[in-house]
Amino acid sequence: MLTVLISSRKQKISTEKYRILGLSSKDEPMQLIDSKSVVGIVYTLKGDVGEVLDKSTEEDPFVFLMGVEAIVRGLERTLTGKSEGEEFTVTLQPEDAYGERSPDLIGEVARSQFPPDMELRPGLRFQGEVAGGIRMFTVNGFEGDKVTIDANHELAGKTLNFEVRIVSVRPATAEELSHKHVHHGDGCGHDHGHHHH
Ligand code: ZN
Repeated sequence: MLTVLISSRKQKISTEKYRILGLSSKDEPMQLIDSKSVVGIVYTLKGDVGEVLDKSTEEDPFVFLMGVEAIVRGLERTLTGKSEGEEFTVTLQPEDAYGERSPDLIGEVARSQFPPDMELRPGLRFQGEVAGGIRMFTVNGFEGDKVTIDANHELAGKTLNFEVRIVSVRPATAEELSHKHVHHGDGCGHDHGHHHH
């Protein structure tokens, strides 16, 4: 039995913007990616049959902090020790990506647990709280007044093929390391729903 607290709040996804500040000077030592690097990548993520599941573009690379599970384990491992300008492709089995699908994360809740104005349909994604943690759920279907919901990650159970080009590498600041996310410009400008100490 999955006990879920449902909120109709949409999950806030902050877009990590990367600004190119200038070319790095030639006498700077090559920065190798480690667990305290801020890395920008342009990538395409493809599934088993080559379908594009996700990507970031040249204009808007995905910029993230290493070492805080901002990206899947297998990709973090592959990036470690590489540097700006390198390109690679890597195939990750589910255990190095989003894990296998777990039947324990599929359950039923009463329709009445959802806000009355929420329009439910298969495939709808919503945020809920389970076992004290916030997760994204997907509505799988309906049975009577029960709603079948699934908290598995949508990429769970999938083999993932990443085509990656590293476009930036820099050491994280002390503040970024303590907040466990990337800052842009003057610091903590984005919305991340946590309290700073
Ligand atoms: Zn912050």
